[in-house]
Amino acid sequence: MQRIMVSLCSVLLLLTIALVSTAQKRKAPAAGALGPPTTALEVITADSVMSHIKTLSSDEFEGRAPATHGEELSINYIADQFKKIGLEPGNTDGTYFQKVPVAGITTKQDAELKVKVGSKEMKLKYKDDFVARTVRLIERGGFDSDMVFVGYGVVAPEYGWDDYKGVDVRGKVLLMLVNDPPVRDPKHPSQLDNKMFKGKAMTYYGRWTYKYEIAAEKGAAGVLIIHEWDDKTNSGPAAYPWAVARGMMVVENFDLIAKDNNMSRVNVEGWITEPKTREIMQAAGFSFDELKKQAVRRDFKPVALGAHAKLEIEQKIRRINSTNVVGKIEGSDPKLKDQYVIYTAHWDGYGIGLPDAKGDKIYNGALDNASGCAGLIEVARAFKASPKPPRRSILFVSVTAEEKGLIGSKYYAENPIYPLNKTVAEINMDGLNQYGRTKDVTVVGLGNSTLDDVLMQAAAEQERVLRADAEPEKGFYYRSDHFNFAKEGVPALDPGAGIDYIGKPAGWGMKKRDEYTVHDYHKPSDEIKPDWDLSGAVEDLRLFMTVGYRVANSDKYPEWKPGAEFKAKRDEMMRKAGK
Ligand SMILES: [Zn+2]
Repeated sequence: MQRIMVSLCSVLLLLTIALVSTAQKRKAPAAGALGPPTTALEVITADSVMSHIKTLSSDEFEGRAPATHGEELSINYIADQFKKIGLEPGNTDGTYFQKVPVAGITTKQDAELKVKVGSKEMKLKYKDDFVARTVRLIERGGFDSDMVFVGYGVVAPEYGWDDYKGVDVRGKVLLMLVNDPPVRDPKHPSQLDNKMFKGKAMTYYGRWTYKYEIAAEKGAAGVLIIHEWDDKTNSGPAAYPWAVARGMMVVENFDLIAKDNNMSRVNVEGWITEPKTREIMQAAGFSFDELKKQAVRRDFKPVALGAHAKLEIEQKIRRINSTNVVGKIEGSDPKLKDQYVIYTAHWDGYGIGLPDAKGDKIYNGALDNASGCAGLIEVARAFKASPKPPRRSILFVSVTAEEKGLIGSKYYAENPIYPLNKTVAEINMDGLNQYGRTKDVTVVGLGNSTLDDVLMQAAAEQERVLRADAEPEKGFYYRSDHFNFAKEGVPALDPGAGIDYIGKPAGWGMKKRDEYTVHDYHKPSDEIKPDWDLSGAVEDLRLFMTVGYRVANSDKYPEWKPGAEFKAKRDEMMRKAGK
């Protein structure tokens, strides 16, 4: 769960954006948009939520690491609850389970990257100058290829942007800049152009995962993302120091096992330091700064560097099996029941790890994310307590391995049990509010889709407002389970706890979150605390249920708003489906 970090930063920056005016706040429900009956909403109580958190975060569940005894207990508990509530098995094989094959990949740290420019040969050192791995399930990988600088490596139809311009980069090693192209406002060159790549906010084109994916699509032999970071100012396009980029590659990494053993993924994924990039470019007769200037222009074309790179990497592969838990409520309208609204909450945690000062080594993950799972079960129970199911079907998916890289949700989104073109929306729960009622609800990626409008209306009926993520440049929308649905085109919502607590002074909510982040986040002490007050969580869950209920009863499909980077994918999917 990374939402806590976002909120912490919102705290620090004191950047709050209340998007609903007081006038709108008291608006009556829109006609035809009736929420679930009160009797159903009232099924969700603080006690019922707490009872699930207690069980899932108990020491007996061993911190819920994938492929452990803790997994067995967790998935069986959730499946038993689904059954008890009366959910149907969500998988078409008649079970509540979807198997998720996972690979653990450990790359050997002694590889050398040899770059030859004319008669000059440079030897780059693993960890100091570059890091690289392959997510293909092979024990040896690498390349022996020419290097091409492709600018930001972006193909973004909604901005009329294509860094490749039809140049064939198959079999090449691509050098790519990190982040979105920082296009300047033509009228105010000191500022970013808000019409391009959402201005200061990060779009998916800026994430390193995108860079690797587009390289695979283009058939490249490898990608080295240029790590631009200024240690003096502690800032830069990479968003974190070299040690962090390096750190991601020097541990066991986890990934899905696709049917093709990940052979369609790019052969080598890596990072290279900026000083080494400058050296290579200079030796090849180019200036890094000059090429960077060209790369922020729409008319940029790939530049063959006249440099040749050779790399061999070795790695160990471990195959493990994990599980998503899936329960279903069939819709009541024969014409719409083959369409789905999906709720997700990851069940996995950090398991048993290094002991803390008190000698506790069980990472109970009470807030992250026993609480989200409790929410998932309780929202399901409230749906079942409605006199009649909504017109569309509802799927409740508790996904695995979020903490290992959003793996369970990725598996579902890439291997959906029900077609994605009939999956109308996804709502994610990762960490519930544990400090009481709030006047606001935080939405990471606010403004992306029409789901926000449904949420805003329902929140207004609770006399609450929506609050945007204060640091959109950090790309938090791309860092939790809802994102894997978004990426495949499904409108996805990531709502979370507010920070403006009723009856508490300004800044109190921020302080509490700050405390959680420093003391308990991803630590053995993420446990139920005596001061927990789940009244706010209950209100949030009733709100999330209302949103799903209305979407499931509406005649319309929710949609991405213009400018959202997943819109083209959805439009294409719906066009193919003939809608
Ligand atoms: Zn989480």
